[in-house]
Amino acid sequence: MTWNPPAIFVHDARWVKAGQLQPARGVVVHSMGEHIVLNQVIYPAQEWLDRQYELVPGGAKVSAHALVKPDGTIVRCASHLDKCNHAGLSVWKKWLYLNKNFLSIEVLVEGNHTWSSYLKAIKTAPGPYTENQHRAVAWMVQMWKRECPELELDNLAAHSTVSPGRKPDPGPYFDWPQMRAFLAEYD
Ligand SMILES: [Zn+2]
Repeated sequence: MTWNPPAIFVHDARWVKAGQLQPARGVVVHSMGEHIVLNQVIYPAQEWLDRQYELVPGGAKVSAHALVKPDGTIVRCASHLDKCNHAGLSVWKKWLYLNKNFLSIEVLVEGNHTWSSYLKAIKTAPGPYTENQHRAVAWMVQMWKRECPELELDNLAAHSTVSPGRKPDPGPYFDWPQMRAFLAEYD
């Protein structure tokens, strides 16, 4: 590999691991705010994910295998064998409800975000994602490919693609051609 993330952390997430993953076939790319604003309090994404039961009782509980910070730092929150709760109702090729077969990566949108500011950020040119985030997604996918022999590179998809009409992330400014160029570089 010709590039490495600035840092890689392993964080054993406190939230839902929904069970054991079947052999991972692909990866769903998601995004969320780097910091989430709720009732004027700011929570880093990782803390937000850890504290959902307390912060949004009754709300859907989300988890992801990895987070990518704006500088390209990766936080691995669950192993490639864990099933996370990230895709919900979703479909890709012959697979339905992708949580059981797909890994997940959350690309963090720099700054403090409410839901509406996040939506605006992902839809406004030139878009919120950094080159290092595209590199880090490609790097992480190649790492997972080594760990998961059944993972195929044509099973990489946006959450908006696998849950059309229901989910907007990561939006039009996640640069798939750029990320795929890095994928080829890191192979
Ligand atoms: Zn998503």
